[in-house]
Amino acid sequence: MSLKLVKVAAETANLFPNGNEFFFYEDSPKSTASFDAMMARDGKERFLLLTAKENAGDFAAFEGETVSGNGIFAKKAPLTEKNAAVLRKAFPWTAPVPVLNKKCSFGCGDRLGLASAAHAELFKKYDAFPVFAQQSIRELTLTKRTYRSVIDDATFLVFQAGYMGGYGADGDHLKSFEHIDMALEVGVTMLTLDLSDELHPAFADCCICEVEKAYNALSADVRENMEKLYLSAPVQLKSSKIEFSKEELMRCVLIYTDAMDFAAEVGAKLEAHGAGKVDLEISVDETSAPTLPEHHFFVANELKRRNVTFASLAPRFIGEFQKGIDYIGDLAEFRKQFGQHVEIADFFGSYKLSVHSGSDKFSAFPIIGELTNGHFHLKTAGTSWLEAVEAISFADPKLFREIYNKAFDALPAALKLYHITADFSVLPKEETLSDDQLPELLKCVPGRQLLHITYGAMLGEDQDMHNKIYRALFVHEDEYNKQLDEHFEKHIKLLGIPAK
Ligand SMILES: [Zn+2]
Repeated sequence: MSLKLVKVAAETANLFPNGNEFFFYEDSPKSTASFDAMMARDGKERFLLLTAKENAGDFAAFEGETVSGNGIFAKKAPLTEKNAAVLRKAFPWTAPVPVLNKKCSFGCGDRLGLASAAHAELFKKYDAFPVFAQQSIRELTLTKRTYRSVIDDATFLVFQAGYMGGYGADGDHLKSFEHIDMALEVGVTMLTLDLSDELHPAFADCCICEVEKAYNALSADVRENMEKLYLSAPVQLKSSKIEFSKEELMRCVLIYTDAMDFAAEVGAKLEAHGAGKVDLEISVDETSAPTLPEHHFFVANELKRRNVTFASLAPRFIGEFQKGIDYIGDLAEFRKQFGQHVEIADFFGSYKLSVHSGSDKFSAFPIIGELTNGHFHLKTAGTSWLEAVEAISFADPKLFREIYNKAFDALPAALKLYHITADFSVLPKEETLSDDQLPELLKCVPGRQLLHITYGAMLGEDQDMHNKIYRALFVHEDEYNKQLDEHFEKHIKLLGIPAK
């Protein structure tokens, strides 16, 4: 880790009233032709510390307290929207770029807007491209953040780490043009289109007579075309075949056609926005039934027929990918089915598989890495928040007890938003535990899931709690970064991502 803090040189620091408390992040100092910049902090907050010979150009464009002496100008620039924009202009590598075209990409959700510097440290070392700015509409609502602030936080943290390798910004799980427009406006470089509102999953398991009735109501031309396309001959994949029965084809047509038409509209919108500026990920994972291989093939083929350019596709895999815990299910079966999904993606050759709810799936990671040969997108969202809670559990036990109790109050509402099967009744009351035992609550499934899904109550609803958490993580920044480093390196190693 090189997020080490170093004392700011006296000749600059002494220009400010409390400058003797200024420290900068070791890898952050960078220069343009007209000014020098570093990410710094004092006992209260993080800020950009800028120096220049003249109070002009980009230096002058930053807002903040400006002082001068010893022949230089210095500025303490707060982490505002305006300053993020000036920083991106001066140092273009702090702005997001498309990354799904890279072999291996990794979504690191950061609900707090504090984790990306530690994430960035890892991506200096490993051969994968990160998506640091990534939130779903659900997360934005619950944390009361905006896409603007999510990208701005990533901008500052990338600068803090001195990470120049490029990162993406994902408008995650978007379902409507309203939200898509909102994300495009602030410059996301990836858009995850969640088709769940356009799917008709009831046709996956309803009786055949209902399927036939609905299918036969379609025009004869449509049916004839579908049957010609999908029933003429099986499709040979590398080691398996895709062979539609008439029944499965009818189900696919009924489940997916509306969603494919919607995806085509979104695809056209992205083309109009500027070809290659925003990667499209297609997500059909937010549904109760696993995506059968025939269904995956049908979706990819229908998108191709509609000329939709997409970079990745997230099926719903067999077994349970629940938030913040390991894979639940039969690993041999997962291996078999995941292998078929890989073969389908390889058959089309134009997109890669995306694994959602991808954090903490330690037993499945070696399979994912091996069968894709490292060609995948993995998305994690809440696990960095859990690492924050874990850091607090040992660094600030009193605050952790408050969080834990509040989580129980917030649980009924959170369970309406997240699919979780843990038995929360087994969790002990905090007053029965010593401080030393508190971190153990982050090692068990119900404890992790309780704290994983109730973040909205801590970060969005309760300003006082929000402030306490941010304060604790500011004071205990090292502990939090260390947690993140270990946790994400474990992911990276098990996935077989090679070192650079
Ligand atoms: Zn998903």
